[in-house]
Amino acid sequence: MNVADSRLVSSMLEKLGYEATSRAEDADVVVLNTCVVRQSAEDSAAGRISSLQGLKRKRPDMVINVMGCLVGAREGGYQERLKKRYPHVDVFSSPSDPGPLAAYLLQDESREFLKSTTARRFAFMDEGLPLPKDHENLVATYVSVVLGCSHACTYCIVPYRRGPERSRPVEDVVNEVKSLVSQGVKEITLLGQIVDRYGLDLSQKRTLPDLLRKIHDLPGLARLRFLTSHPNWMTDELLDTVAALPKVMSHIEVPIQSADDEILAAMKRGYTADEYRQLVHRIRERIPEVGIATDVIVGFPGESEAQFQRTYRLVEELRMDVAHLARYSPRPHTVATRRMEDNVPDEEKWRRFRLLEELQEGIAGEINARYQDKEVEVLFEEKVRGRWRGRTPNNKLVFVESEDDLRGKILPVTITWTGPWSMQGAVE
Ligand code: SAM
Ligand code: SF4
Repeated sequence: MNVADSRLVSSMLEKLGYEATSRAEDADVVVLNTCVVRQSAEDSAAGRISSLQGLKRKRPDMVINVMGCLVGAREGGYQERLKKRYPHVDVFSSPSDPGPLAAYLLQDESREFLKSTTARRFAFMDEGLPLPKDHENLVATYVSVVLGCSHACTYCIVPYRRGPERSRPVEDVVNEVKSLVSQGVKEITLLGQIVDRYGLDLSQKRTLPDLLRKIHDLPGLARLRFLTSHPNWMTDELLDTVAALPKVMSHIEVPIQSADDEILAAMKRGYTADEYRQLVHRIRERIPEVGIATDVIVGFPGESEAQFQRTYRLVEELRMDVAHLARYSPRPHTVATRRMEDNVPDEEKWRRFRLLEELQEGIAGEINARYQDKEVEVLFEEKVRGRWRGRTPNNKLVFVESEDDLRGKILPVTITWTGPWSMQGAVE
């Protein structure tokens, strides 16, 4: 989501006449888009903000904008505290909201070149923004369709910082996708904290399958994905829509978090381990060759060895393609922080993390090995250190050596090497 938000800010700044530079020292405006999902992310955001203090002293005219979850969605509150703590920051803005930065830059009369756009104020936000120059030739990108979250899992800071769930109107999403596709984008990933709840809060009820169908036939669009799904809203209609629409990729991201029912209840996830197991079977029955990714948190308050083992065994049984692993990190204001003791020692969290990491490495390695000498269809996105990087429909990362320009092309690739995290292949 921050990648999508940052792209929006870059587009807005270019619309206002700025251009990108790779060194903060050279910049007139510096935007730090922050994440606070775990303490480590918050610490690195705080470190980066502090590190800009010296630059601001040397260049007082430099505009520093901090946006994202460190700032949060509510006016006042955190913002007042942040202003005191970081007086060198000029503008604080909420996640997904480039408005405060635009307002700040536009009100400054000394910025002559901005005057012509002043009258239009934020109209540019609705027009479909041009991609920023350093994103030209972008092949795959993200579009947020559900902002915020109202689920309030007990460990999670997101609802406090991104605010309540809001679905964007279908027309807005379609316009943004159309604009991106007209600029050469081939693959769009629709984003939401619970993307499968898309539309349930709109006055004119719409669903994610409706939205997928609406976007699917836009000329020029080659691939469509969505993430992250919550198990409770993965309807058969959604799965059948994924299976039926050829441009919707066979790729599902659906976090389990834990496979112990007591821990799941304490997390307020709203499903049991067995319901999750049934869901994975349902997904596999309905979507051929599907790639499934999950998220797991180890060391949630009170997680015993036996409870961790339940998670370990279900991950082993379900053999999913990817597992994003996290060590529990207490976040301010969450129910888990207020009411539960963070009583799994750090070394123990690390031990459980490594055990799962090793397990998943083995599983992913075996799953990917089945692709050896097989042909897969790859959409190529960019050249990284001499090799073209692309993905299969079920989201496997594939590298190919080629002197040709493969950017934006969908080609059959024969797999010549496989590992747990990526594969290599050759184009005919
Ligand atoms: N909305 C998605 C969902 O329902 O799972 C994911 C959102 S969250 C921003 C991304 C991942 O971060 C979660 O799936 C979870 O595994 C992890 N996460 C969230 N809060 C955490 C915490 N307090 N400690 C450790 N990991 C956390
Ligand atoms: Fe956080 Fe739960 Fe919402 Fe995901 S569903 S963003 S984990 S509160």
